[in-house]
Amino acid sequence: MAMAMAMRRAAALGARHILGASSSSSSGILRSRHMSVDAAAALERIRAAGLLRTQGLIGGKWIDAYDGKTIEVENPATGEILANVSCMGSRETSDAIASAHTTFYSWSKLTASERSKALRKWYDLIISNKEELALLMTLEQGKPIKEALGEVNYGASFIEYFAEEAKRIYGDIIPPTLSDRRLLVLKQPVGVVGAITPWNFPLAMITRKVGPALACGCTVVVKPSEFTPLTALAAADLALQAGIPAGALNVVMGNAPEIGDALLQSTQVRKITFTGSTAVGKKLMAGSADTVKKVSLELGGNAPCIVFDDADIDVAIKGSLAAKFRNSGQTCVCANRILVQEGIYEKFASAFIKAVQSLQVGNGLEESTSQGPLINEAAVQKVEKFIKDATSKGAHIMLGGKRHSLGMTFYEPTVVGNVSNDMLLFREEAFGPVAPLVPFKTEEDAIHMANDTNAGLAAYIFTKSIPRSWRVSEALEYGLVGVNEGLISTEVAPFGGVKQSGLGREGSKYGVDEYLELKYICMGNLN
Ligand code: NAP
Repeated sequence: MAMAMAMRRAAALGARHILGASSSSSSGILRSRHMSVDAAAALERIRAAGLLRTQGLIGGKWIDAYDGKTIEVENPATGEILANVSCMGSRETSDAIASAHTTFYSWSKLTASERSKALRKWYDLIISNKEELALLMTLEQGKPIKEALGEVNYGASFIEYFAEEAKRIYGDIIPPTLSDRRLLVLKQPVGVVGAITPWNFPLAMITRKVGPALACGCTVVVKPSEFTPLTALAAADLALQAGIPAGALNVVMGNAPEIGDALLQSTQVRKITFTGSTAVGKKLMAGSADTVKKVSLELGGNAPCIVFDDADIDVAIKGSLAAKFRNSGQTCVCANRILVQEGIYEKFASAFIKAVQSLQVGNGLEESTSQGPLINEAAVQKVEKFIKDATSKGAHIMLGGKRHSLGMTFYEPTVVGNVSNDMLLFREEAFGPVAPLVPFKTEEDAIHMANDTNAGLAAYIFTKSIPRSWRVSEALEYGLVGVNEGLISTEVAPFGGVKQSGLGREGSKYGVDEYLELKYICMGNLN
C-alpha cells in the first residue's frame, strides 16, 4: 500500500518529492516501514562505513539547505525511501562557488605532484570502499550490483589516470621569429568549474570531470542528479578524507534550474561541464554565452549497431547484447538501433531473441540480476510511447513489449522487428531495454541510415572484413566506434560525441584540455 502510494506520487510529480523543514529526520535518513531486509542491511553497511551523507558539501562543511528543505531519494526497485537529502538552490550554490573561488588560489598553486598525491589517495579510498559505493549505487539507481561494482572501478580509474596525468601537463617553447625573443606557451587551469551530472552513472560521470579538473588545478562545484545524490556525496566524503582541501570539491543538489542558473550567471565560474540530455545541454550552452564560459557537453546518443552479413554471429550477438542492455538500456552509448543486413537478419533475430530471453530481470541487489528497473515512471511511459508508435507504423514485437510482472518500473527486455526510419524508436533515444531491429540491403544503405540522425556519440559495427571495418568506421559520423565489440569505454581513450551529441572529450590525455587555458608569453630584448 505504502509502496503503491510512493509509485503514484512519483508518477504525479515526475520527480522526487520535496519536503518541508519539519519532515526531515535529524540524521536525514528515513526508513520506510516496508524497507526490504536486503536494502536495510545494505544501508546499514554503508552507514557503518560513514558513507551515508545527506547534506551538501560547501567549503569542506556538510550543510543543510538554508531553508531546511529536503528531497527524497527512492530505491527505484522497490519505491522505498532511502534518505532525505538537502534540497539546495541558488543561495547555497553561490556560497559553493565563492568557496571554490577562494580555494582555487591555493589549490592551483600546489605542485602537480602534490595534487597528484591527493588524487591518488582519493582513488585508493574509492577502491577500498568499492563494495559500499556499489551497494549505494544499486540502491538509488537500480543497476545490478555487478554493473555497480564495474562502475566503481571505471569511475575510480579516472581519478587514478588523472592523478598520473597531472604531472604531464606540459607547455611548449616555440622557435622565435626574431633572434632576441623567446616564445613560450603555458597551460594554466581555467578556474572554477561547474559540473552537472546525470543519474545513469552516479559516480563515473562525476569522476570523469572532477579528476581532470582537480589535476589541472581547477576547483569544482558538482551538481549530481536529484535521483542519485547519495553516491556523489559518498565520493565527496572520500575526497575530503583523501586530503583534497575544503572548497576544492563542493557538492550541491536540489533545485536544478536554480543551481544551473547560479552557475551560469556567476563570473567566477569559468567553465561548465555537463553530461545529460541534449535539451538541457543546449540550455546550458546558451546560458554560458552571457559570461563567455568554456563549455563541454556529453549529451544524448542514438547509437547504430550495424551487423553485416559477414559478421561472426556469436561475436555480433554478444556485442550487441552488451551494447544494448547495459544498465537496462539507460546509457548514452547503448545501441539504440540494431541495423541488420538482409542475408543474416532471420538468423541474427532468432539467436538474439534467445540471448535476450536469458537476461534476468530483478532487484539489482540480487546477484543473479542482469536487468534492473528503469529510473522512474516517466522513463517507462517513454518506452511505452515508443513501442506504441512503432507498432502503429508496422513494426512487430518479437519479444517482451510490456511492463514486467515484478511491477514498479521493471520492463521486459524487448525485441522489436521491422523498425523503420519514420518511427520514434529509430529517431530518438528510447533509454530503455528495447532493441529495435532494422533490416538493410547494402553497406551504403547502412551508413546512410546510421548517419541519418542529429546525434553522433557511439556506433558499433560487426564484420569479419578488415577493409569494410575501416571504410565504415571512417564514414560513420560518430565520436566513438566499436568494431566487433560492444563495450568500448575506458579511461585511457577519448570519450565524446559529434553533431548534437556534444562538445569536447573526457578521459584520456585529451581530457585535461577541457580544463586548461593556453597562455602565450613573449620574452623580448634578450640580446
Ligand atoms: P537531464 O535531465 O538532462 O539531467 C542531467 C543533469 O542536469 C541532472 O543533474 C539534472 O538535475 C540537471 N538539470 C536538469 N535541468 C537543468 C537545468 N535547467 N539547469 C541545470 N541543470 C539541470 O538528463 P538525465 O535524464 O539525467 O540523463 C540522461 C541523458 O544523459 C540521456 O540523454 C543520456 O544519453 C545522457 N548521457 C550522456 C552521456 C555522455 O557521455 N554523452 C553519459 C550519460 C548520459 P536533476 O536530475 O536534479 O533534475
